Amino acid sequence: MPTLQELEREAHACTRCPLAAGRTQVVFGVGDPNADLMFVGEGPGREEDLKGEPFVGRSGQLLDKLMQEEIGISRDRGVYIANVVKCRPPGNRDPLPEEITACRPFLEQQVELIKPKVVVTLGNFATRLLLDTTEGITRLRGRAYPFKDAVIVPTFHPSAALRGGGEVVAGMRADFIRAKEHLR
Ligand code: URA
Repeated sequence: MPTLQELEREAHACTRCPLAAGRTQVVFGVGDPNADLMFVGEGPGREEDLKGEPFVGRSGQLLDKLMQEEIGISRDRGVYIANVVKCRPPGNRDPLPEEITACRPFLEQQVELIKPKVVVTLGNFATRLLLDTTEGITRLRGRAYPFKDAVIVPTFHPSAALRGGGEVVAGMRADFIRAKEHLR
């Protein structure tokens, strides 16, 4: 097993799928390598691709806000944030199955190395990949699922909350509280 740093270096040189050709930067992940809490999103957007950091755009601002308000943490401590795919899909389209398959070992090794207690999956792509299901997020969220030595707490993607408004945000808040309970 590589170290997290070695894995990151590997990702920065990765050409396993066509997304490599269109990226500005690889967005490997950010945060505390010993975090008990991990968030997993879908893939970098435009701002993330430019900055090389996950969730720095509008979705990220909402994520930071809910993290602070419901769990009492900020991204500089006790949390690690990553995505299913590490390179931006062009025009913010959904990642393709073959891109997810190519990138999957990076996320799997990140989880193995960080060993979080709780993994909050944001939206369908992260939830379906880690829970190995085709079920949708609306059905899956609202509870925690055992996952190796951790639990997975699925919730909506913050971009769905930005589009969907109050009810979706309320669901996310409830899921974040659930995540916090499992951190104890
Ligand atoms: N949406 C995601 O899923 N991930 C990011 O890093 C940014 C937006």
